[in-house]
Amino acid sequence: MITKIIQEEKIQKAKKYIEKAESITIVTHVSPDGDAMGSSLGLYHFLSALGKDNVSIVVPNCFPQFYKWMPGAKEVVIHEKYPEFAEQLIHNADVIFCLDFNELKRIEKLGPVVDEAPGRKVMIDHHLNPGDFCKVVISYPEMSSTSEMIFRFICRLGQYELINKDCAVCIYTGMMTDTGSFTYNSNKPEIYTIIGELIKKGIDKDLIYRKVNQVYSENRLRMMGYVLYEKMKVYPEHQAALLTLSKEELDRFHYCSGDTEGFVNLPLSIDGVSFSVFIREDRDYIKISLRSVGDFPCNLFASRYFNGGGHKNASGGEFYGSLADAIAVFEKGLEEFNPNNV
Ligand code: 5GP
Ligand code: MN
Repeated sequence: MITKIIQEEKIQKAKKYIEKAESITIVTHVSPDGDAMGSSLGLYHFLSALGKDNVSIVVPNCFPQFYKWMPGAKEVVIHEKYPEFAEQLIHNADVIFCLDFNELKRIEKLGPVVDEAPGRKVMIDHHLNPGDFCKVVISYPEMSSTSEMIFRFICRLGQYELINKDCAVCIYTGMMTDTGSFTYNSNKPEIYTIIGELIKKGIDKDLIYRKVNQVYSENRLRMMGYVLYEKMKVYPEHQAALLTLSKEELDRFHYCSGDTEGFVNLPLSIDGVSFSVFIREDRDYIKISLRSVGDFPCNLFASRYFNGGGHKNASGGEFYGSLADAIAVFEKGLEEFNPNNV
């Protein structure tokens, strides 16, 4: 038995919206990760199995190559590539599901489009501090992933039977990737009850692991070697480490979206390092990824210094300025940040 976490009133409202809807659009955050893709595609397969034949997924920009194998991934509409079509899908939807993000700023240029769209909006998410742009807000930060919430949501609609193998594969992928293959944020027993149910639906969890983690390009592996050997700085007195990559360095390794995913976790394998930050020169700004183990709240560090946020052990932010300035801000933060005093 799985605990009923989502409030009944929210389930009933969402149920009514789905029943009445002719067209449904699912939107998720910029640079979609495994949970963004897994939750969106999981919900997509469920709604299709329910008989909804006008369901779309819109993402702000490209998602990494290693998620392209996911069932339904080819149907996903990328706003950056097809802006008019993507905006139309959002504008014309009777119901808009906002998955795996808590603020409109996390969908960048799609923010105003969703904000102004007339459809009923339902948020399903696990980030702290949900914004108030949705009619129904299903937000539980203690959950491992939005994908786990999609499983719970479908069950609470009384539709467990409609979870087919494709749906289960997507939900599992999101749960696995948002917990670092169940190495953090994953100590609640019910996660494993859910995994048991997904395996009963026919998924091969070992194969999913290989599809996500063992399909990298040669360039990525060489860049990983480079960043660890040449670009990692360890701050033993702060139990911290920093990785950096400039635009020029990314170009040198023919960077493709997703190639640096997971780099930020690598320094955490050093004995004594419990806070790791990766600063990367992105297209228009500097992207910061932060990870911690244990009690250190890297989301508070992200919000204080990099206009960001996220979870206690996995967060991100942005910086507008030079790479050197971003590094200086990080180092100043290391000196002065006190999690008990924010
Ligand atoms: P990643 O480092 O994988 O890009 O992001 C890790 C987590 O940090 C995401 O799941 C998300 O919760 C959060 N995050 C990443 N970037 C941002 C950002 O710019 N703003 C906020 N508020 N959260 C972010
Ligand atoms: Mn997530």
